[in-house]
Amino acid sequence: MSLAKHEEVAHICDVAGCSSEAERSFNIKQVSKSSLELKDDSIRQVHLCKNHYKKFKKETSNDRSLDQVY
Ligand SMILES: [Zn+2]
Repeated sequence: MSLAKHEEVAHICDVAGCSSEAERSFNIKQVSKSSLELKDDSIRQVHLCKNHYKKFKKETSNDRSLDQVY
């Protein structure tokens, strides 16, 4: 049994207020470290559009440098 949706259906960005087409998806644990607000935070896989992916990447790489500083 498969509940998978058709592959060709484009995902929409899961960030609140955004309706752009998603480019990539991430685990909710990764995305919750950033300041991005999601439409639904009970999902496991978060889809991000190009812009929010950039924002997410920027914020999470900042996190990593904070870890190194102590
Ligand atoms: Zn977006």
